[in-house]
Amino acid sequence: MVADNIVGRVSIVAPVYNEVDALWPLYEALVEVMDSMNRPVEVILVNDGSSDGSAERLDEIAEKDERFTIVHLRRNFGQTAAMAAGFDHARGEAVIAMDADMQNDPKDIPRLLEKLEEGYDVVSGWRKDRKDTWLTRKLPSQTANWLISKVTGVPLHDYGCSLKAYRSEVLKDVKLYGEMHRFIPALAKLAGGRVTEMPVTHHARVYGKTKYGLGRILRVVLDLVTVKFLLTYATRPLQVFGRWGIILGGIGFVYALYLTFLKLAYGEALANRPGLMLAVLMILTGVQLISMGLIAELQARTYYEAQDKPVYTVRYVKYKTGRKRAGFPGD
Ligand code: UDP
Ligand code: MG
Repeated sequence: MVADNIVGRVSIVAPVYNEVDALWPLYEALVEVMDSMNRPVEVILVNDGSSDGSAERLDEIAEKDERFTIVHLRRNFGQTAAMAAGFDHARGEAVIAMDADMQNDPKDIPRLLEKLEEGYDVVSGWRKDRKDTWLTRKLPSQTANWLISKVTGVPLHDYGCSLKAYRSEVLKDVKLYGEMHRFIPALAKLAGGRVTEMPVTHHARVYGKTKYGLGRILRVVLDLVTVKFLLTYATRPLQVFGRWGIILGGIGFVYALYLTFLKLAYGEALANRPGLMLAVLMILTGVQLISMGLIAELQARTYYEAQDKPVYTVRYVKYKTGRKRAGFPGD
C-alpha cells in the first residue's frame, strides 16, 4: 500500500461553550465554505456544558443540516476535553479543529487542506495579524510560543491558534489532557508526524466573550513541563532522575567523606559547619531522585503495557502490490 496524501472526507471540529450569538453566523460561514469544497465534509460541534441557550441552537442546526453533528457533554469539561470528544466522533481522513466564536475564519480551511495534501500530518494556523489585546493576550502568547518552541524543539509562531488541520491517524496517536490541545503539533511530532504552519486570518471577538484570563499562563507552563517530559524521557525516566540523583548524591557523598576525614584525622568539630547539612541534604536528595526514577520506570512500563501501547509509531508498511498481507512470503 502506498501512502496517499490526498484526503477525501473532512471533519471540522469546534468546541462550543456559551457562544449562542456566534452559532448562526458560524453556521452560515461554514456552509458557504463547505459548499465550495469538492469533497464530503461533516461538522462536529461539541457543546461543552453551555448554559446560555447554545444547546438548543445547536440542535436546531443539526435539525436543519444533516452534515452537522452535535455532541453534548454532560457538563463543562474545558476546551481540550471538548476537542477530544469532537475528534473521537470525527470520521474524516482529515480533521480541522477551530474555535466556534468566529475568531477563526472558515475560509482558511481549503488552504489548510491543500497544505496537508502536500504531505504534512499537521498544519498549524498562525494568527499573524492577531486581533486581541496586546498586554493580556498577545504578549503572554508570544512568550509562550517562544518557550514552547525552545522546549519542544518544534518551532511554531502560534501554538495557541485553534485553527489547525490534522491527518486523522495522527490524532489517534495523541491523547489529550489538561490544556494539551495547544501542544498537539509537538506531540504529533513525537509520534513521528510531519508538522508545518501557515498564516491564517484572525478576527476580533464580535460575539460573546473570552473564557480565559491570565490564569491560563500557569496552566500552560505546567502542561509544558509534562509535554517536555513526554517528549524526551517518558520511556526512560530513570535517565533524567537518576542522572541528577547520582550527580547530587555523589557530590554530597564525597563532601561527607571529606568532613569525616577532618573529624577523624584532625578532631575538627562538625556540628557548627553548614557544609555538613548541605552534604546530608545532597545525599538524601540524590537517593530520593534515584528512587523516584525507579518508580517512574515502573509507571512507564504500566503505562505502555497496560494499553498495549507500542513505544514507536508506524507510518505505513510496504508490501508488493497484490501480496496477501497475512501470509508469510512463499506460503
Ligand atoms: N471553550 C470550550 N470550553 C471551555 C472554554 C472554551 O469549549 O471551557 C471553547 C469556546 O467556546 C471557543 C474556544 O473554546 O470556541 C476558544 O475559547 P475562547 O475564544 O474563549 O479563547 P480565546 O480565543 O480567547 O483564546
Ligand atoms: Mg476566541
